Amino acid sequence: MRIVLLGAPGSGKGTQAKKLMAERNIPQISTGDMLREAVESGSSMGRQAKAIMDAGNLVSDHVMIGIIRDRLAEPDAEQGFILDGFPRNEKQANDLDALLNELGMPLDTAILMDIDFDILMKRLTGRRTCSLTGKLLNIYFSPQEALDECTSAGGELVQREDDNEETIGNRLNVYRGKTEPLVALYRGQDKIRKVDADGTIDEVYGRFLEALK
Ligand code: AMP
Repeated sequence: MRIVLLGAPGSGKGTQAKKLMAERNIPQISTGDMLREAVESGSSMGRQAKAIMDAGNLVSDHVMIGIIRDRLAEPDAEQGFILDGFPRNEKQANDLDALLNELGMPLDTAILMDIDFDILMKRLTGRRTCSLTGKLLNIYFSPQEALDECTSAGGELVQREDDNEETIGNRLNVYRGKTEPLVALYRGQDKIRKVDADGTIDEVYGRFLEALK
């Protein structure tokens, strides 16, 4: 199963990809996570990417396709993969097509996580990670007990640096201007499947599995 996940920031791509990864044993390849790891490690690539990410802009296509090329060469990707956050524009989509053709493993499906703007804003501005467990939470949507469980155990509810309102606005603009056109591109290849991404994680996951059939 070789899947691309499309959808605005906050549409739940990462959450659904992680569930599918756990269930089907195929890797979630999140370019955002990989870049955040590079930033944490203090590598030169991470240092260059940080300012771009903090502003909500896209890291260069050249760097991104290099990251994806290396990652897809790892053995676990032979069984399939879920690309989460890549491609983000037409150049990346075309480069990905060329790479996958070269590797003899074309894409099966592009899933579009479809969600309203208002819900997105709450998901993004409310998103927190528990510093102790790494669990993803939301101050608007998570049950109070789940939030308390983290803080009463001594954890902090940490907000991603690019989840502030200004950066979020730009990330959504970048999505609309550069990434959304990929829906038409994949529709032209008859690969797009739309998933209603509003609902509980399990509800959306049910629709997600349905779309993969
Ligand atoms: P994400 O976690 O997918 O929302 O990504 C966080 C940030 O990482 C984005 O706002 C971009 O700055 C950068 N990023 C992630 N994936 C890509 C990509 N495919 N191309 C360019 N920049 C990316």
